[in-house]
Amino acid sequence: MPELADLRFCSGCAACFNACPVGSIEMRENSEGFLYPIVNKDSCTECKLCENVCPVLNPFQRKEPLETFAAKNRNSSIRLESSSGGIFSLIAERIIHEGGVVFGACYNDSMQVEHNFTESLAELNRFMGSKYIQGNIDHCYRQAAHFLDSGRKVLFSGTPCQIAGLNHYLHRDYADLLTIEVVCHGVPSPKVWRHYLDTLNINLNHASVNFRDKQNGWQHYNFTISDSISGSVLFTEPASQNLFMKGFLRNLYLRPSCHHCVSKAFTSGADIVLGDFWGIRNYYPEFDDDKGVSLVIALSQKGVDLFNCLSPDCIEIDYKQALAGNPSIEYSSTCHPNRARFFALLNKNKIKADCLINDCLKPAALDKLKSIILKIIRK
Ligand SMILES: Cc1cc2nc3c(=O)[nH]c(=O)nc-3n(C[C@H](O)[C@H](O)[C@H](O)COP(=O)(O)OP(=O)(O)OC[C@H]3O[C@@H](n4cnc5c(N)ncnc54)[C@H](O)[C@@H]3O)c2cc1C
Repeated sequence: MPELADLRFCSGCAACFNACPVGSIEMRENSEGFLYPIVNKDSCTECKLCENVCPVLNPFQRKEPLETFAAKNRNSSIRLESSSGGIFSLIAERIIHEGGVVFGACYNDSMQVEHNFTESLAELNRFMGSKYIQGNIDHCYRQAAHFLDSGRKVLFSGTPCQIAGLNHYLHRDYADLLTIEVVCHGVPSPKVWRHYLDTLNINLNHASVNFRDKQNGWQHYNFTISDSISGSVLFTEPASQNLFMKGFLRNLYLRPSCHHCVSKAFTSGADIVLGDFWGIRNYYPEFDDDKGVSLVIALSQKGVDLFNCLSPDCIEIDYKQALAGNPSIEYSSTCHPNRARFFALLNKNKIKADCLINDCLKPAALDKLKSIILKIIRK
């Protein structure tokens, strides 16, 4: 039987699932809501392809940044629809204009995230914007390989583990493939997302979720759900007050592998890294209009050449300036101390997800006592 990655490190990238030639691997949801590969002993032929394509078992070498930029899409309405500076759209539009195919994350009808592809500019908005939930990659690596083998250009974007999964699956360099990874804080559980949505009591038919609604600016963004047909807002609040976002940013329900990610810090084989340039106000305040500034790191000559063909509003910066405000580029998030308790209680189904998140994020009595003592000492 093949020995796949230790479950603490398995990111669910699904390279093994895509590579299995006899369909003996199934991606099955565990009790925390994350997909893991399960090998069917009866049909497995022991070819070991699944082990060979695993990014945990065969990690890539780190690449060094070739060029780093702060950049903005010149189209401000596209920038407002995007999470950062709208650079993903700029690159995706170019690939589609050249007759290529774009892979990325979008919502399905049940408001879960899945990877899919488009060849049309009109459909690109489905792929725009960060969805802070782990997506299902399904057979997208196979589909990408199929397009590449038939001579099409492919842009594949995703989290670092998904890009590592694709590159391991393909096992060779394709001149027509460009890969983008997003800087990744970690991916929350799809099951927690489902439970959280249930607490909102909103009719989700035709709803659209914007985790990074910039109505109050890029720095102080809102979490908003609207009706995608009428455009009316069904729910909105500052992300800093939204319970799902709070639990995400405080690492209460990230995938275990996100706490020791083997694909970040430029080890996925990506050509370009995209993120938020959070430190922009400290370095180039005149460049910040609070509508979103992207951080763009080119890791390969292909990435440099592609970015040089575009015409965003941009300035070249020192990579260290980017890292200073954005540790997720290189470092994994630390697990919240109440993570195990949170999932144990969630699975008992006795407390609603919003109350549970709130409860598990409250500081423990000892921490409260410590902060009171510290305040007294400071006074
Ligand atoms: C889970 C997650 C965590 C992130 N953490 C950070 C962080 O800590 N620091 C930081 O600077 N940036 C982070 N980002 C990236 C950031 O939010 C923007 O996605 C990125 O800067 C690109 O922005 P854009 O304006 O160019 O394009 P946008 O249009 O906003 O970006 C869309 C791109 O994000 C991809 N994407 C969206 N959701 C997912 C998903 N669930 N899984 C895989 N790919 C997805 C799409 O495929 C597309 O390529 C994170 C993104 C995600 C999805």
